[in-house]
Amino acid sequence: MLGVAVAVPALVDREAGVVVDAPNLGWHDVDVVAAVTGQDDALGGCPVRVDNDANCAALAEHVRGVARGVGDALYLTGTVGIGAGLLVDGEVRRGRHGFAGEVGHVPFGRSTRECVCGRRGCWEASIGLHAVQAAAGAPVTHGTDPTTAGAALAEPGGTRRPGP
Ligand SMILES: [Zn+2]
Repeated sequence: MLGVAVAVPALVDREAGVVVDAPNLGWHDVDVVAAVTGQDDALGGCPVRVDNDANCAALAEHVRGVARGVGDALYLTGTVGIGAGLLVDGEVRRGRHGFAGEVGHVPFGRSTRECVCGRRGCWEASIGLHAVQAAAGAPVTHGTDPTTAGAALAEPGGTRRPGP
């Protein structure tokens, strides 16, 4: 094993190995590297890194996926939260404070819905999974398991349509 990468839907301090804020997970100032490594160094000194999930996905698509050979790309991810990984000249752009991909918390449209971040009108508050479930009349699920979310949407009162 060469290393361990932990992708978290969060604001991440990569140098410190800390999730600064993951509002959809309820994590604040979580030392992920220490948690994964453990006190007994169960990974035998193997390097552990943590980064934002959209940044990791963008980089993975650049190295082995649909963005191979492409220098500039935008990877959008959307489940409970909405995030982006931005590649410019093949490098992940993080912005001055490392939060460049936090597009889900940009005001979009005329919505005044309250967001998990505490502000109103964020894009995520309108098109995130919980907003979609609520708009469909489906129960709002907790966690990010797509199987659970899909099952909730398919329940009576959800958005299931009759087959052909
Ligand atoms: Zn927000």
